[in-house]
Amino acid sequence: MPVRFRVMARCDVLVVGGGFGGAFFARELERLMGGRPPRVLLVAPENFLLFSPLLPEAASGTIEPRHAVIPLRELLATTELLIGTVERLDLDSRRALGRDLNGDEHEIEYDRLVLAPGSVPATVPVPGLREHAVGFKTLADAIWLRNRVLRQLDAADAADDLAERRRLLTFTFIGGGYAGVEALAELESLVRDAVRRYPRITAADCRWVLVEAGTSLLPGLDPDLATFTERTLGRRGVEVMTETRLASCTGGVVVLTGDPVRPFPSGTIVWTAGQRPHPILGEWGLPLDEGGSVPVDRYLQVRGLEGVYVVGDAATVPDPEGGIAPNTAQHALRQARTAARNVAAGFGVGEQVPFSYRTRGLAVTLGKWQGTAQVRRTTFTGPLAWWMGRSYHLLMMPGLGRKLRVVSDWTIALLFPRDVSQLGQLGSPTPLDG
Ligand SMILES: Cc1cc2nc3c(=O)[nH]c(=O)nc-3n(C[C@H](O)[C@H](O)[C@H](O)COP(=O)(O)OP(=O)(O)OC[C@H]3O[C@@H](n4cnc5c(N)ncnc54)[C@H](O)[C@@H]3O)c2cc1C
Repeated sequence: MPVRFRVMARCDVLVVGGGFGGAFFARELERLMGGRPPRVLLVAPENFLLFSPLLPEAASGTIEPRHAVIPLRELLATTELLIGTVERLDLDSRRALGRDLNGDEHEIEYDRLVLAPGSVPATVPVPGLREHAVGFKTLADAIWLRNRVLRQLDAADAADDLAERRRLLTFTFIGGGYAGVEALAELESLVRDAVRRYPRITAADCRWVLVEAGTSLLPGLDPDLATFTERTLGRRGVEVMTETRLASCTGGVVVLTGDPVRPFPSGTIVWTAGQRPHPILGEWGLPLDEGGSVPVDRYLQVRGLEGVYVVGDAATVPDPEGGIAPNTAQHALRQARTAARNVAAGFGVGEQVPFSYRTRGLAVTLGKWQGTAQVRRTTFTGPLAWWMGRSYHLLMMPGLGRKLRVVSDWTIALLFPRDVSQLGQLGSPTPLDG
């Protein structure tokens, strides 16, 4: 894109990223600094924070996709926003180059830097993956997947060829972490309800396959929860294949390692096999560990780089209980708040504090009334865990208005049948010459 002109900007704090790390950092700094806020500039490609724990429910239509995001202009009061991306960073001269939506460059001078660019899907060189699989990371992914699943039902309803119907109704998810498990469980639940409106399709006509390379689903959670999840999905007819990898999906035909099943055509293939730290931090010359993320100290500062903080999925943060803090929204949010306190301390407000958040637990929803949860060492399953997961996400969500929107979606979803309209044409306006 041609550069039109440069806009110079100067700020006390530059924040890269508007997700859990970046947005909650800026919000907390505003709170701490009260009436004398420093000049904070936050750069993010979207003007909203994606509340990713609600992404699977946005995909299944249980909540309205717009309710899974929080507008940054609603969340933040005094922070300046530049919707675009930071493309270059010079750590020595403390300058960054941002690009806005018009394609114009912004040269930004800063004193302190907070980096929270998150992660990107970790793909491997599997033949056919790029052409035939989709990721599950953004709101666009969730909306696309919902429309895709419903489109497949309509296409299968019209198809007479049995093999083609089978292909259209086969949904394969690669990666059995919580993103893959929740996405599959929510969409399977959507299809189970939706097929009641399709006289020629039953739930048994649909094939759901979940492939996980590890020995069990939900690595990192209590093994009992993984077993419960496997059994719950199994009862719903989902084929869970652990210790199995995708070998190829050329032409949309799924070939798995070992010989658990014969190769099978799958109309929808979703890649949820993990995330890796955003690669841009390495390009900007930050020190990386072998996992590709930036090691920080207990104060979330990069060693040897005064005034540079990294939080969220792109950081390797020492866990107060030993090891490394996991990459979750609840950790990114607490790291953001700690970094805000440490930056505020630099402006003479409060004291520096180390990151001290201890994991409270994790909840995984498995569609209507089903879930698993772990709080400290206690595990919960079934409707109670489902309710706990929902309550926790609601507590994390900022703003009463946002909370009420989600609660009303949940209530409507419990009382009324699902909406099966397929809105795949949204975002592509009709040409006027037609
Ligand atoms: C499907 C799914 C479900 C999940 N469910 C849960 C859950 O139930 N519970 C939980 O605790 N965690 C969950 N997570 C994990 C959680 O979303 C992440 O750990 C969390 O979002 C990390 O926060 P972050 O700020 O590091 O990254 P993000 O929230 O991803 O934000 C990063 C931001 O930086 C922006 N950015 C990147 N590059 C640039 C650049 N060059 N310039 C400007 N901006 C840039 C990105 O566009 C993005 O807006 C889930 C994740 C996914 C994908």
